[in-house]
Amino acid sequence: MSHTCSHVIFAPERSDLSLLDAPAQALVAGDLVVFPTETVYGLGANALSASAVAKIFAAKKRPATNPLIAHVHSIAQARQLVATWPTEAQVLAEQFWPGPLTLVLHKNDRIPDAATAGRANVALRMPSHPTALALLRACGVPVCAPSANEYMSISPTSAQHVLNSPLADRVSYVVDSGPTSVGVESTVLSLLDPTSPTILRHGMITRQQLEEVLSIPVHAPEHLVHDDSSQGALAPGQAARHYAPKAPVSLVDEIPWEHVTQTMGVLDYTTLPEASDVVMRHSPCLHITLSDLPERYARELYAALHTFDQHDVSQIYIKLPPDEVESWSAVHDRLSRASVSA
Ligand code: AMP
Ligand code: MG
Repeated sequence: MSHTCSHVIFAPERSDLSLLDAPAQALVAGDLVVFPTETVYGLGANALSASAVAKIFAAKKRPATNPLIAHVHSIAQARQLVATWPTEAQVLAEQFWPGPLTLVLHKNDRIPDAATAGRANVALRMPSHPTALALLRACGVPVCAPSANEYMSISPTSAQHVLNSPLADRVSYVVDSGPTSVGVESTVLSLLDPTSPTILRHGMITRQQLEEVLSIPVHAPEHLVHDDSSQGALAPGQAARHYAPKAPVSLVDEIPWEHVTQTMGVLDYTTLPEASDVVMRHSPCLHITLSDLPERYARELYAALHTFDQHDVSQIYIKLPPDEVESWSAVHDRLSRASVSA
């Protein structure tokens, strides 16, 4: 990589949009730019340029078999990238875009094979974060943007998470708009067969919400296919171990306090006073308590895992949240991947 140091741009949500001109031009020119979306911070590159997209794989050390999501600022821009735009895509985009829903559709030639790992289909999303939308409008090109972390490590939900990581030296700009609001990656839905929509990755938009809008069943395999190497895998890049902190993670129904020592991390949840989503206690271990509301828990989850990494805890116990309600699916998915040993 040619850069030794990235330029950080503070762009709070209502800031002067001209702040985004330089990172937008960098994207058009084929350089890497980290920017916020409502899910996690993304590592962006011009989706129309094979050489720009290749820089994402190099910076993240991401396997070339793992396709990228292209981000757009409008339905019209999405339609320019696909071979067909089924009614189901239109209905879902009108309902959930901008927002944390990614649609997999048959691609056309404008998207280079490098962006889709050689697949004939492309994943598309219109993010709702005002900074992301402003940047996408300013650069005018679709932008591939996987999470701005090295492959297999925890996704960043703040600019600081990126600046603390090796990626900081591999990008031209880091646009900082504070912590993200959703906190876990988008729901990925395949519409390759529009009569049989299939969830490829759980996110905060649930199967139930999708079914209500589509009025047809939406498939959500209980165990999503975990296979990085296979071109045939339903959900490429959904490795069993992913989003994992450095220390081993045990998912438990109750924290085994008798085994917890000072070097360990504990993550649990509780009904909290309105004012605060996170409670940290340092004794007898690094103890982080999140909200028992899935939206709030999801928003803080990765920050909690980053905190455990920063404190080099030796072992992490995580109290499993309830699993009866679909609004916890994304959290359960990420926790199960975080707990697979390396
Ligand atoms: P991320 O790493 O958050 O950018 O998410 C990328 C994920 O979206 C991949 O790991 C896949 O699960 C899914 N995805 C992206 N592109 C495709 C595609 N062309 N076909 C199927 N799934 C895709
Ligand atoms: Mg990722």
